[in-house]
Amino acid sequence: MAHEFDGKVALVTGGASGIGKAVALQLAAQGAAVGVADLREDAAQQVVDEITSAGGRAIAIGADVGDPDQVKAAVDATVQAFGSLTHALNNAGIGGPSGPIQDVDIDGYLKLIDVNLHSVFYGMKYEIPELLKAGGGAIVNTSSILGLVGTPLAVPYVTAKHGVAGMTKATALQVASQGIRINSVHPGYIDTPLLQGMPQEAYDALVGLHPIGRLGTADEVAELVVFLLSDRASFITGSQHVVDGAYTAQ
Ligand code: NAP
Repeated sequence: MAHEFDGKVALVTGGASGIGKAVALQLAAQGAAVGVADLREDAAQQVVDEITSAGGRAIAIGADVGDPDQVKAAVDATVQAFGSLTHALNNAGIGGPSGPIQDVDIDGYLKLIDVNLHSVFYGMKYEIPELLKAGGGAIVNTSSILGLVGTPLAVPYVTAKHGVAGMTKATALQVASQGIRINSVHPGYIDTPLLQGMPQEAYDALVGLHPIGRLGTADEVAELVVFLLSDRASFITGSQHVVDGAYTAQ
């Protein structure tokens, strides 16, 4: 049976957990070979095992996306394993420091910007030459609703995620006529390990911010990401796509 991503090769960062894992599984189920990159290679390997036991193709890559050399190595490893790169989800991210800006630790701020923003620059910098060699493809960058609107006590996160949206648009313009589409995805609060350990009261408060009455799931975000990566989204590039239970409609 033919699948939508047969013959395609994707790199997914933060692919061991949450949204990245859901995208890696959906892409592999649709025929893509997937480089599953994450901070912990053993965690990425578990997702690879899930993919291969379902008949798909994937490799695990240990990489810190805050380090440009490790991002380049992740791109190279995927190309070496599967012959090309046609798709990417630059997704790895952390919650980082919260609280009034006066109290935000500078090292924590810099780390958040490295992992959530500079990583996307490194990703696209090294992915685009491979996509061009492959004759085109598509990239999605994971931003957030907090890449479209602010919230007072998460200045570093809001800053990084707005940066991802701008970086996406500027890079999409650069390659729009070269067969590469690039979009950003802006999830509302999603029930992933990123939110684990949160007190029930705080979780309930987050639910209350979403008119739909619940948080999203990683699979619901993955549906949008996989659509944007697919040829069905062939006229969609340089734009911002919310999946947020009406959070930003208010
Ligand atoms: P998640 O379940 O925590 O998955 C993120 C993955 O990235 C984890 O496996 C994590 O590894 C990995 N990672 C962290 N730092 C890394 C680094 N420096 N290099 C490589 N990998 C790294 O989180 P998620 O909710 O799926 O989040 C994925 C993306 O969606 C993030 O960019 C996040 O900001 C964004 N997002 C999330 C939400 C939400 O509510 N969950 C909403 C909007 C946007 P460890 O577990 O070992 O740290």
